[in-house]
Amino acid sequence: MDVYGLIGNPVAHSVSPGLHETAYEVRGLDARYVTLETDPERLDQAIEGAAALGIDGLNVTIPFKEAVMEVVDPSETAASIGAVNMIDFSTDPPTGDNTDAAGARRALERHGVDPGAGTAVIVGAGGAARAIGHMLVSAGATVHIANRTASRAESLASDLGGTGHSLDAVPELAAGSDLLINATSVGMEEDRSPVSASVFHEDLAVMDAVYTPLETRFLQDGSAAGATTIDGAWMLLYQGVAAFERWTGVEAPVSAMNEALRNRLESEWSES
Ligand code: NAP
Repeated sequence: MDVYGLIGNPVAHSVSPGLHETAYEVRGLDARYVTLETDPERLDQAIEGAAALGIDGLNVTIPFKEAVMEVVDPSETAASIGAVNMIDFSTDPPTGDNTDAAGARRALERHGVDPGAGTAVIVGAGGAARAIGHMLVSAGATVHIANRTASRAESLASDLGGTGHSLDAVPELAAGSDLLINATSVGMEEDRSPVSASVFHEDLAVMDAVYTPLETRFLQDGSAAGATTIDGAWMLLYQGVAAFERWTGVEAPVSAMNEALRNRLESEWSES
């Protein structure tokens, strides 16, 4: 049996086990996906132990995405982003990669949005913004970053090759852009948006990294202005698809994974 999993702290409420185990079932693979809540002081030992135990692949979440770079061999993409969210143990040392970037790219493409065409505004300058920004710049887009802490936007923009701003700049930036992305945590389990409803227009594609709820205030405001909207579950789905395909070498059953993910997110949200 192949064993995959997620290390982080906390990991108890992760949707990843359901996402991956649906794929194993549909593809008839003898595999399991486990959550491993890891002591932040013992990350090195956890990775060594996982390799020794014959674990085939791990996803990595908060608070280890950056620290784990020191104990695996990061891919070029992960090194440029500065974070690893999946480990492939088929190499020695294990390889660390970042499938959040691929997840965001495939989420956009699925909705007919060419990530390399035109101008994008990313709101936020944390880990999600870094992965999405790297993908957009690599694809050829012009990228503006706006963040509550403007200095973090400037620093990320200078790393990526874009421009950095405070949130006050979003109305002007969005007016001349094709794509507007929320990569902050604003809107997660709350009815709030990081930007005013007046920034949206019908020529925008609007994507949210937040996926609880699926219909965030940010997306509702975008939809009301006639923008194309892409919820955070699409990026989440496709980062899982990319990890599954990398680990197993099998084409992912995307529709079944999408259905399982959405059912889980919707039932969790209706219970909250
Ligand atoms: P992070 O590194 O902690 O960054 C958080 C960002 O949110 C920062 O830019 C921060 O601004 C901003 N922010 C927080 N509170 C704010 C507020 N009240 N007003 C304005 N801005 C605020 O987090 P992350 O890892 O990038 O994750 C961001 C979100 O993306 C989370 O909801 C996460 O669940 C989601 N995510 C989704 C996926 C997916 O596959 N869909 C993947 C990764 C992450 P400051 O710099 O000013 O603090």
